[in-house]
Amino acid sequence: MRTLFDCAVVGGGPAGAAAALTLARRGRRVLLLEKEPLPRVKPCGGGMPPSVFSLLGLAPIDGVVDRVHRLTFLYDGASPVSHELTEPLLMVDRARFDHFLVGTAGSAGAEVRDRTAVHSFSATGDHWAIGTSAGVFAVRRIVIADGGQGRCAAIAGFPSKRRTEGLAIACELPADRRRDELTVDLGLLPCGYLWLFPKGDRVSLGVGITKRDGNHLQLFDKMAVFAGRQGLPFDRSLCRGHRVAIWDGDRPLTRLDSFLLAGEAAFLADPLSAEGIRPAVRSGIAAGEAVDASLGGDATAFSRYEERMRRELGREFAIAARIAKFFFLFPALSYRAAFFHPRTTAIMNEVFLGRVAYSDLAGKVLSTLARAVTRMTS
Ligand SMILES: Cc1cc2nc3c(=O)[nH]c(=O)nc-3n(C[C@H](O)[C@H](O)[C@H](O)COP(=O)(O)OP(=O)(O)OC[C@H]3O[C@@H](n4cnc5c(N)ncnc54)[C@H](O)[C@@H]3O)c2cc1C
Repeated sequence: MRTLFDCAVVGGGPAGAAAALTLARRGRRVLLLEKEPLPRVKPCGGGMPPSVFSLLGLAPIDGVVDRVHRLTFLYDGASPVSHELTEPLLMVDRARFDHFLVGTAGSAGAEVRDRTAVHSFSATGDHWAIGTSAGVFAVRRIVIADGGQGRCAAIAGFPSKRRTEGLAIACELPADRRRDELTVDLGLLPCGYLWLFPKGDRVSLGVGITKRDGNHLQLFDKMAVFAGRQGLPFDRSLCRGHRVAIWDGDRPLTRLDSFLLAGEAAFLADPLSAEGIRPAVRSGIAAGEAVDASLGGDATAFSRYEERMRRELGREFAIAARIAKFFFLFPALSYRAAFFHPRTTAIMNEVFLGRVAYSDLAGKVLSTLARAVTRMTS
């Protein structure tokens, strides 16, 4: 007889791996389906706070290629402001990090199938038949964590309309020297920033924008300028990137008491920084917990998942979106106001580390920006 799985998780990124790990640890029969061969390559800066590992109850062992102790902001190559981080930010190699998480879920009991693309869901009595490139699987619940490019949410009947377009492009270049510093230039582009992250014997250089103005070619020109200023040779052919499903308002995250969305499939990337790994892990864990509770007979588990994501992520992202909107409306003035204000930058560092929530500083940052901009423009 065909195995009936308690839950299928679609996607082997951080959201899917976190959901599968959570369910496997609770003794649920879970199937993780990933369309690519593992380990799969993912274009990403790979910067994340150490709390990602602690959320998962894991030691930061695999995939970490660097630890960064200093953060420097620039505005169009000038006006540098640096801060020592109170705790190092981790730089991960995404192929290794994601593979480690999926492997950990597998060791905890999840059945992992790579090279298996999901293409359909059909209701069959009291369970679902999932159509894939490797056959049909019978499951009771489904966590969709197929990322910002995924189509499974739409196939399951979730509204897929994008209201905000984010885009990120990264390339890895050989490091010319040891850098213990994360550099972010906030003034080279409207509505975006460029980054340089050290990654062992390489660096990740990239660009993220929260609004697309139609001229993508200029992004490569800006990357070349930024690389040149950092003394690095730029090679456009090494660049990889895609749209980022940044949060643009709360959306339905569950359907038919069977489907849950997690990670970028749920548009859970930060609208200010485009950070997506930590929200993916947080939502993956919460989705796993909700499925476990629902399988145990809790009829409110799915609505509580939605409510939890709105409270823990949506509320924070709404504030991040306001800060981003304000900043990019008056970028030069905001940079001067915020980044030369030692307390603001110190607090922003704590936000990047995940130790302070946007809601703890929203009022302070926005009022500091507004006061300074008013002073400078009057
Ligand atoms: C250039 C770039 C740089 C970035 N830098 C950072 C950074 O420094 N820090 C940070 O926190 N975030 C960063 N992000 C964002 C971050 O990479 C994502 O938000 C994060 O990977 C989302 O995790 P996820 O698990 O939701 O989706 P993903 O990591 O995208 O995983 C989804 C998985 O689903 C699989 N899949 C898709 N469709 C199917 C299907 N039909 N069947 C089966 N499997 C399927 C995919 O192959 C993929 O493996 C960056 C993004 C980009 C594009």
